[in-house]
Amino acid sequence: MDNFIFQNPTKLIFGKDQLQQLKVEVPRYGKKVLLVYGGGSIKRTGLYDKVVTILNEIGAEVFELPGVEPNPRITTARKGVEICKTEGIDFILAVGGGSVIDCSKLIAAGAKYDGDAWDIVIKKAFAKEALPFGTVLTLAATGSEMNAGSVITNWETNEKYGWGSAVTFPKFSILDPVHTYSVPKNQTIYGIVDMMSHVLEHYFHLTEETDFQDRMCESLLITVMETAPKLLEDLENYDHRATILYCGTMALNGILNMGYRGDWATHNLEHAVSAVYDIPHGGGLAILFPHWMEHNLKVKPERFKQLAERVLGVNSEGKSAEEAGLEGIRKLREYWNSIGAPARLADYDIDESKLDLMADRAMANGEFGNFTKLNREDCLAIYRAAL
Ligand code: NAP
Ligand code: FE
Repeated sequence: MDNFIFQNPTKLIFGKDQLQQLKVEVPRYGKKVLLVYGGGSIKRTGLYDKVVTILNEIGAEVFELPGVEPNPRITTARKGVEICKTEGIDFILAVGGGSVIDCSKLIAAGAKYDGDAWDIVIKKAFAKEALPFGTVLTLAATGSEMNAGSVITNWETNEKYGWGSAVTFPKFSILDPVHTYSVPKNQTIYGIVDMMSHVLEHYFHLTEETDFQDRMCESLLITVMETAPKLLEDLENYDHRATILYCGTMALNGILNMGYRGDWATHNLEHAVSAVYDIPHGGGLAILFPHWMEHNLKVKPERFKQLAERVLGVNSEGKSAEEAGLEGIRKLREYWNSIGAPARLADYDIDESKLDLMADRAMANGEFGNFTKLNREDCLAIYRAAL
């Protein structure tokens, strides 16, 4: 195991009717609140009215930034930064999925930065300060509600990058499974693939002696895989929604990955695809992850075999580690397809025409990945295999 420091300052408020906690939490940070949300789902579900009622009850002065896109754009974050600076906003409340939260993180940091917020995303500037912000999560997927990461797209230049800073953890996040009842089936599936992919990104590392961490990762994967088909049959089942919501947060809040460094190449490959084609993150991951695995099986076949045996139900008796690993990859792909995730880039009408641009974007910061380094040829091979 490697040395590590763990600190996660986000207060997690989980369960039924916990929205009321806004009355306790928001006044700690001031009166002027910027309410950030997406394309309208919170208005359709009535959550918007409930939040605004509470904010009015506590005497907050409410400003709004609606319209955050899935794959949130720098143009929208800039609008939020402008409101914060001109109105002297004290606190940002993000109500939505990962996109709304990621956008709010950049608004919070951009509000305390003199230049263009895009500088922070491309790491020309580092976020040393940020406005305080909290979240009301409506979609189980990213873990953004309890981590400091944010992924922002520049649609003009077809760039999509992740960034983060110790100052961009939410102060609190309210997770009521009921708020996720209305997430449509396809978004529920993308969220399930995303959280499983976060665990898989952790899982592929080269550090020795991570037995406990491995078991935690495997436990989360097994739990999600057992729960997902039941949830997809019964989208308003409280217990299944709660399990998936909790797993989504735990998959990427730093608890599973202490003492080693995960890979993260597949996320980089996917960001490059969604920067060019604006596809859902979880859909892209379901297509790409099995191909990344096949491409890198030989790096450490025992790792793939362990996953295959412990999580994917492969009996490896009489098989080499590579054979067992390959069977595991096939089972993972079959599982994702069985719950309705896409299988090929062609499912999103992606053909060969922009493979070079995608590879350029994936290679923006040079070779990448920690399990093994991918170069441009590797990127192209994985994209081609996924067509
Ligand atoms: P999302 O982009 O936030 O939301 C996807 C769609 O679901 C939106 O159209 C949204 O509609 C809708 N939606 C959300 N909650 C809903 C509800 N309760 N009922 C009905 N519809 C609902 O999805 P996401 O998967 O959470 O976030 C994806 C983004 O996060 C990507 O950009 C990805 O790269 C990034 N990401 C971040 C991290 C991180 O750690 N920060 C990790 C992985 C991925 P409305 O817009 O109308 O609300
Ligand atoms: Fe992700």
